[in-house]
Amino acid sequence: MIVAMKADATPDEIQAVVDRITSFNLKALNMPGGERTAIGIASAIPPDLRETLAELLGAMPGVDRVTHVSRAYKLASREFHPADTVITVKGVSIGANEVVVAAGPCAIEGREQLFEAAKAVKEHGAKILRGGAFKPRTNPYSFQGLGIEGLKLLKEAGEQFDLVTVTEIIDQHDLDTVAAHADILQVGARNMQNYPLLTALGKATQPVVLKRGISATIDEWLLAAEYILAQGNESVILCERGVHPLDREHTRYTLDLSAVPVVKTLSHLPVIVDPSHACGNWRYVASMSKAAIAAGADGLLMEVHPDPPRALCDGSQSLRIETFASLMKELRAVASAVGRSLV
Ligand code: PEP
Ligand code: MN
Repeated sequence: MIVAMKADATPDEIQAVVDRITSFNLKALNMPGGERTAIGIASAIPPDLRETLAELLGAMPGVDRVTHVSRAYKLASREFHPADTVITVKGVSIGANEVVVAAGPCAIEGREQLFEAAKAVKEHGAKILRGGAFKPRTNPYSFQGLGIEGLKLLKEAGEQFDLVTVTEIIDQHDLDTVAAHADILQVGARNMQNYPLLTALGKATQPVVLKRGISATIDEWLLAAEYILAQGNESVILCERGVHPLDREHTRYTLDLSAVPVVKTLSHLPVIVDPSHACGNWRYVASMSKAAIAAGADGLLMEVHPDPPRALCDGSQSLRIETFASLMKELRAVASAVGRSLV
């Protein structure tokens, strides 16, 4: 439910509405706008209270109108927050006009590999360095990541090449350690519905990249974002990375590009696209990256490796540095064709 105040509502009238909402044990959210304030109710309202509450609040001094939010998610919805959310980390803004590229290896394998990738992606225009230290592998015998050693390398590479860093967190107990080494925390597709992890990230100070679950609907994904937002962390970046495929013969997952405009309509949160995990094959990454920008994505998350055949993880979908460099040129043209920039 959203209570829109009149443009000339006084601070006391606004406070009275907030107090009335909290007197029902509901969470009131003050949303000051350019011309007027709105107050949102960020809790589930018991069905038998809905109409009475709407009438009660509608009759209070300074109230213009009361509208019901039709979606189960509140803080993630555009109804609650009409303007686009822009998340700025160390001077890099995600969700603004500029399309932001995050690139780097799937897994941090060592200093030489990470630093070579970092240097190259920076040189060709990426603003964010990706690299996994804790890898959620399907096979328990596969390389699981360098852990804390990987995090230290990521931090060092970020500082050396002036790149914002993003890395995956798979366990809420690692939060302090991961947060001490990375600028953005990533929730992988496998953990989109790990609610204790989402709740812990809601209390973190870093922005969170929330990947869409492999079989998650758009509403389930936005409700997962709501878990983080509800704890007070307003910086959630949604990442479409492909959903369970009909045909695994040619691509690893199916990139749901229509999710981009759909989520942009339903939510104010920035949306980025990971074509690497969606395709599972480097040959298709360029096409899907261009399509993602044309579809309105605010950024891309891509795997780039100095020597893909020798990668310890996801080499088949990783771009070589030269391929990444030429793709970035094409992406600039697509961005400008759709009224966006890409530096
Ligand atoms: C990743 O980005 O490193 C990753 C594991 O991706 P996903 O969670 O989308 O599978
Ligand atoms: Mn990967």
